[in-house]
Amino acid sequence: MTLNLKFNHNFINALQGDPIIENYTRQVPKACYSKVEPEKFDTANVIAISLDAAAEIDLDKNLFDTPEFNQFFTGQKIYDDMTPYAMCYGGHQFGNWANQLGDGRAIILGDITTKADKKICLQLKGAGSTPYSRSGDGYAVLRSSVREFLCSEAMHYLGVPTTRAISLALSGEEVYRDMMYDGNGAYEDGAIVCRTAPSFIRFGNFEILAARKELGLLKELVDFTITEHFSHLGTPSKDTYLKWYKEVCKTSADMVVHWLRVGFVHGVMNTDNMSIHGLTIDYGPYGWLEDYDLDWTPNTTDASYKRYAYGQQAHMVNWNLVQLANAIYPLIEDTDALQEALDFFADYYKSEWNKMMAKKLGWSEYKESDQALVASLIHLLTSVETDMTLFFRGLAKIDHTLKYDEIPQDLVDCYYDEDLSSDYIVKCCAWLNSYIERCAKDEVSTEARAKNMNSVNPKFVLRNYLSQLAIDKANENDYTMIHELLEVLKRPYDEQTGKEFFARKRPDWAKDKPGCSMLSCSS
Ligand code: AMP
Ligand code: MG
Repeated sequence: MTLNLKFNHNFINALQGDPIIENYTRQVPKACYSKVEPEKFDTANVIAISLDAAAEIDLDKNLFDTPEFNQFFTGQKIYDDMTPYAMCYGGHQFGNWANQLGDGRAIILGDITTKADKKICLQLKGAGSTPYSRSGDGYAVLRSSVREFLCSEAMHYLGVPTTRAISLALSGEEVYRDMMYDGNGAYEDGAIVCRTAPSFIRFGNFEILAARKELGLLKELVDFTITEHFSHLGTPSKDTYLKWYKEVCKTSADMVVHWLRVGFVHGVMNTDNMSIHGLTIDYGPYGWLEDYDLDWTPNTTDASYKRYAYGQQAHMVNWNLVQLANAIYPLIEDTDALQEALDFFADYYKSEWNKMMAKKLGWSEYKESDQALVASLIHLLTSVETDMTLFFRGLAKIDHTLKYDEIPQDLVDCYYDEDLSSDYIVKCCAWLNSYIERCAKDEVSTEARAKNMNSVNPKFVLRNYLSQLAIDKANENDYTMIHELLEVLKRPYDEQTGKEFFARKRPDWAKDKPGCSMLSCSS
């Protein structure tokens, strides 16, 4: 039996590759990829499948429990028409040019076009080393793979543009990691995630070619990207390059507005982690806002600079877009036109953010006169420890035909502080009463407003401590919580009576626990 997947070789056929086929770490100039196969892990075993993501590539359900599925999604079976490869890319990491990075532990199995005419690239993460592994081992550990598997699917169901994940597997190998970089290393289970995207092309794929002054290849890659993935913009030309760049500005802005809506912090927004499709990619030390804190980052490496903190993310997308503009400049040679696209990004982002906030607050549209009320809400949310997710769900419940002089019961549970100051209570009630006046202008019932709000304010997000609980169990060979979380996170906006456990405020034990509020890049 085979999985009946039909691979195309468009990327490899269109672009120059690495002529060396041996797999050893090196610089790979004048190439967009290197051919490399996944390592052979005899006992690799799939432990979780996202059925919907698998269905996207037209996989027959009957195949899910078969050895063929297991072998394919762990890289053990490479069919004759497959040519796995790793991509060459560079990137700016934490603001500095890092030169060649590349797929150091990701191997693309191949690209397919689905029956629904969707282009999907299948990639294994953690399946062994490649020419781009630098000092790494090419592996991924179970904890980070559980996080990537669950979060990419959770984001998909939240409606946030993202790469997806079909499967999570144990590689069967032990992998050594010093998780907190404190000399207390240990062996952990190795894991492999099969993830999907239209392509895994990143800003860094263009940057490396520009940095190496491989302008012919840069043009080939841009032309390929447009022809293969942005054909609606027209045939490649200077004008099309600009349209394409502007579209990347737009989709990247859309992505970050979604992040801010659901309280997601990516944690490592380096240019090598920026998808050309405006998708959330590379789930590393990401986190979910519990307390609404604009300065919060889960990434311990970024703890002092907070470059990638929640409230910085739009600036950082902008910064990354500037790097992409620099990279493709030689093909366009028009600074004003590129600047115009960046100005568009700034305006578009601002207007989308305003619209998003209006939706979160249950208003039919954003009006200029709403600015002060939204600004004072942000001030309110940051003035005491407030759980963002619970606050917006609670706000949906309050009766907007009343007036408040104490915190309504529906909001009481969203605070981490036990005792709210009288000053805060006065300010909160004043805000609520202004909010109610604003809602009244929309002439919408409390029920209808709640329904609208609950369709954009999730009840269930992958709270940091929930992934950690699932990881702790997985480390004991119990994968049930991974499966259960995946099910709950499929319907993040629904009430899902009986699943309240997964919507609870962060418990105290998780406040400063590694893996819950602090994550290193070790993965
Ligand atoms: P990340 O910050 O996870 O997006 O990774 C940055 C770069 O480091 C990418 O080029 C990765 O492929 C590479 N990398 C991360 N972990 C490993 C590893 N264990 N082995 C090889 N390369 C790695
Ligand atoms: Mg990366």
